[in-house]
Amino acid sequence: MAVWHLSLPVVSRRDHGIGTVAGSCEIVVLRLTAEDGTVGWGEASPWSVFTGSPEASFAALDRYIRPHVVGRRLSDRAAMMQDAARCVAHCTEAKAALETALLDLTGRITNQPVWSLLGGQCRSTIPLSVSIANPDFSADIALLERLVSDSVGLIKLKAGIAGHRFDMMRLETIAKDFPSLRVRVDFNQGLTPEDAEVRVMDVASMQPDFIEQPVAAHQFDLMARIRDQIDVPLLADESVFGPEDMARATREGICDGVSIKIMKAGGLTRAQTVARMAAANGMTAYGGDMFESGLAHLAGTHLIAATPEITLGCEFYQSKYYLTEDILESAFVIRDGQVVVPQNAGLGIQPDPDKVEKYALRGSAE
Ligand SMILES: [Mg+2]
Repeated sequence: MAVWHLSLPVVSRRDHGIGTVAGSCEIVVLRLTAEDGTVGWGEASPWSVFTGSPEASFAALDRYIRPHVVGRRLSDRAAMMQDAARCVAHCTEAKAALETALLDLTGRITNQPVWSLLGGQCRSTIPLSVSIANPDFSADIALLERLVSDSVGLIKLKAGIAGHRFDMMRLETIAKDFPSLRVRVDFNQGLTPEDAEVRVMDVASMQPDFIEQPVAAHQFDLMARIRDQIDVPLLADESVFGPEDMARATREGICDGVSIKIMKAGGLTRAQTVARMAAANGMTAYGGDMFESGLAHLAGTHLIAATPEITLGCEFYQSKYYLTEDILESAFVIRDGQVVVPQNAGLGIQPDPDKVEKYALRGSAE
């Protein structure tokens, strides 16, 4: 078992209601090696203002989870995930990395794609959404032109970062100049209880597909109140990490749908559970992500390929549109605005070990 903490350069600054990403994003990569030498890879993609820190992900895997994995039988995956859940609190991204690596390794040894291990395939492509979050909107105009020429049909506008006027101006400009794009809006908790209701109602008048997480994660009452006032679906993201949060969100009626992320749920299986709980309660599900490399995108792709309840597409765009260079040995495949589900064993593409070394801030002993 080997663990690396990487810093991956990015092409631009991006602002969100909860914080900014600029310069680079940091991830943790895990490699498990079986007795026969076969390897499986997984990624933890934390964001300190949202889920947790890369230092915590690294320590969770290298120090706390390692003793529960090394020397174990690969087929005891559920037991290892249960031990990982108990041996260190939170650190959901580290647990997602562990399950990803175990599934990749199992798939490679048994010659099955990861989606096959998650119940089988229900779709071969997934509509891609790209997020618009540059404080310099003229740079995002150039990105929007590129997206249209790449046949991308979905975008998510990151709102609540620089005033209501900036949000409405961007929405109106996109509606007028890029009519082929379907628009979703995500506030990333950026609104205050004082201004949230008025601003969300104004944005809802533009009829986006959905509005995501306008207020702080813990403000369930306010989420429910906003939901009652708009005729556009309200999605929960930061309010719902795993199945336990989904149960509460359902009881308290805070949302019409949920953004599913393996980094929040603590793995692919738990993310699948969140999607099924949402569907059973009449809600929709979206394939969200964090600031990830193509390795974590692959895990999310296999999850959605095996989970019919996730119907709103995915946002696995960083590999192609945000990282200066991805770490995979061949490109994460996006064609005609759709993520293409791999059909070969495991995750389908492996990281390039030279790139992992190139971007590593530190690595553990094997
Ligand atoms: Mg979000």
